[in-house]
Amino acid sequence: MVYKHPLYDRQSPVILGEHVTADDGTGLVHTAPGHGEDDYIVGRKYNLDLLSPVDERGHMTKEAGPYEGMFYEKANTQIIEDLKALGNLFYEETITHSYPHDWRTKKPVIFRSTPQWFANVSMLKDDLLTAVKGVKWHTSWGETRLSNMLKDRVDWVISRQRVWGVPIPIFYDKDDNPLLERHLIDHVANLFEEHGSDIWYEWDVKDLLPKDYEGDKNLTKEVDIMDVWFDSGTSYSILKRRNLPYPADLYLEGSDQYRGWFNSSLTTSVAVNGVSPYKEIVSHGFVLDGKGRKMSKSLGNVVDPLKVMSQQGADVLRLWVASVDYEADVRISDELMKQVSESYRKIRNTIRFMLGVLNNFNPSKHYIGWSMRGQLNRVMTDKYYQLATRVNESYAKYKFVDVTRLIVPFVVNDLSAFYLDYTKDSLYCDSEDDFERRAIQSTIYDILMGLLKLLTPIMPHTMSEAYDSFEYRLQDDVYLEKMPTGGKLKEPKLHDAYSLFDTLRDHVLKHLELAREAKVIGKSLEAHLYLEVDEKTYEALKYLDLLDNLHKVLIVSSIEFTVGKALKVTVSKADGHTCARCWNIVKEVNDNKVCLRCQKVLEGIK
Ligand SMILES: [Zn+2]
Repeated sequence: MVYKHPLYDRQSPVILGEHVTADDGTGLVHTAPGHGEDDYIVGRKYNLDLLSPVDERGHMTKEAGPYEGMFYEKANTQIIEDLKALGNLFYEETITHSYPHDWRTKKPVIFRSTPQWFANVSMLKDDLLTAVKGVKWHTSWGETRLSNMLKDRVDWVISRQRVWGVPIPIFYDKDDNPLLERHLIDHVANLFEEHGSDIWYEWDVKDLLPKDYEGDKNLTKEVDIMDVWFDSGTSYSILKRRNLPYPADLYLEGSDQYRGWFNSSLTTSVAVNGVSPYKEIVSHGFVLDGKGRKMSKSLGNVVDPLKVMSQQGADVLRLWVASVDYEADVRISDELMKQVSESYRKIRNTIRFMLGVLNNFNPSKHYIGWSMRGQLNRVMTDKYYQLATRVNESYAKYKFVDVTRLIVPFVVNDLSAFYLDYTKDSLYCDSEDDFERRAIQSTIYDILMGLLKLLTPIMPHTMSEAYDSFEYRLQDDVYLEKMPTGGKLKEPKLHDAYSLFDTLRDHVLKHLELAREAKVIGKSLEAHLYLEVDEKTYEALKYLDLLDNLHKVLIVSSIEFTVGKALKVTVSKADGHTCARCWNIVKEVNDNKVCLRCQKVLEGIK
């Protein structure tokens, strides 16, 4: 089927353009293969002429016949007038619809078919897809995303119309045919190596050609530049030149780079060297505000990292980064920062406390090894070793969020709320050289040194400062230390027993809280516990050496217990006198109102 052109004396074919959808209405749609991608594709399919009647300045070309030279807006009005005059205009209206605009001038863009340089990627497709499979993708969807892009990719437009950039080193003969001669390109490459690529713009064509060049002297040079993705996509070439490992261990960039850098690097590297330029890919999302909106100055929701750092310190901001799942887009707000700075404060205070109780602790003199240090100290040391193992695994996988998810509860629950709480009595009140006290200090020493190293990648300033204030540090700075390796459970039975103790402790804490609410006791040291425990728990306490010391670990003054069928806790107010030094309630105090233990310690000090 053909129709007669409404203005010119010519016939045009009616074609089926499947990109035109029914919701746009019915009838014939004008197709301009020179002015739009869909039209270009369907035009090629039906062998239509590549008419491109608007030039780069928006003026009509001679292909537009009588309208030649007119600015396109003026031509629009004129063409409508002419159609009316010929009686060929049925109806005219102005519609408003979404259309691409230039981001800077906000003016509409005119699509034009223009000659470009392409890299034919289809030849590489199989090699690219194989290379993608050989890369370790830390984000599971990363491999899929890049593979899908590569599968759909046809040609890579490598030319851009900009005034400056990396030139495309091509010469044209007098008929505008490109001279694709390798020795010419090599010659230009050598000149660039020596003088820099700007000579392409500064030198005359004859100076860019080999001296003995025998060919056409009337050559012109290409003025288009290379796509910048070509520049950044070949950045790996510096590695070989500097004798650094290639392929690189890791590429790290934002999740927008699957389309950009990850893609162009892979494509060029596979084309030139047949391998992926990277072994692993880590990509991150973008920072949104607390409500999940993009940050923008006009919305006023920008959280300025410099402001956060000057108010709270760089380590708090770093801890926030390590506390979120960075692979997806992440949210930040003052409220979220408050929560993170609370975690930071807890970590910092706990570390400060540990440093404090290690005052005068010289590991080379006072250190008590794992096998000698008593059951609960061993449990804590083991817990730390397990933590270190899991933290190292998380770092190896770049799962920083797992690092903080492991360390924060260990610091808050295991150390601060339990171990460092009940050991205070021994640390503060036993004599300095008391064996148990040294065993506790040795445990704290192991855990503290470990934590400082494990947290250094995330909170380097705080950890360095803390390490620096430990008198018996082994290195000048924590940065010179090696990451701790962790270890396996040395004695699984110990941990089984500990978990029974832990259940018992939970019960006791609940009952102490109830007794406090009922005003039976004030602080827990005022409590006397009557415990009925089952056989298994009794055996566990025995295994943990807690039959005589349980009151110390539970921070109450005295405990009586019997073995029964189930767990039963009764709290009453301890009977006796409060020691003026350790605040334990004991049967007797001396004339100075201190307990027997404290009396001995004080005599030792004298
Ligand atoms: Zn005392």
